[in-house]
Amino acid sequence: MCVFCKIVNKEIPAKVVYEDDLIMAFHDINPQRKVHVLVIPKKHIPSVNDINPEDKEILGHLWVKIPEIAKLLGIDKDGYRIIVNTGKHGGQEIYHIHYHILGGEPVGRMVCK
Ligand code: 5GP
Ligand code: ZN
Repeated sequence: MCVFCKIVNKEIPAKVVYEDDLIMAFHDINPQRKVHVLVIPKKHIPSVNDINPEDKEILGHLWVKIPEIAKLLGIDKDGYRIIVNTGKHGGQEIYHIHYHILGGEPVGRMVCK
């Protein structure tokens, strides 16, 4: 079982900020900005490349919840960046799809040189 599925199953602890039937949001273990939260579907979808039409409801729901989570985190007004790393060139390390929410301070250039 992957590390994020273990977090979903409460086999590994995480600082959860939001949870419902379909998704979970928790603080990244190695934050890259003052606020760094990961939003995941509870379903194990390995990467963006593995999204199927049947995932529309889950991923649509996830997007609807992102602004609510940003509000809970107090970063909605100043703004934030959402990153979804995909595959080797995208720098994906955990193969359970996740949306990084970064904020709490200026995030910087869109990508490093
Ligand atoms: P990726 O590079 O796959 O887009 O991002 C994986 C992220 O998961 C990294 O930012 C990393 O710090 C985070 N991460 C890895 N293992 C754990 C863990 O066990 N708990 C939490 N909360 N975050 C993790
Ligand atoms: Zn998983």
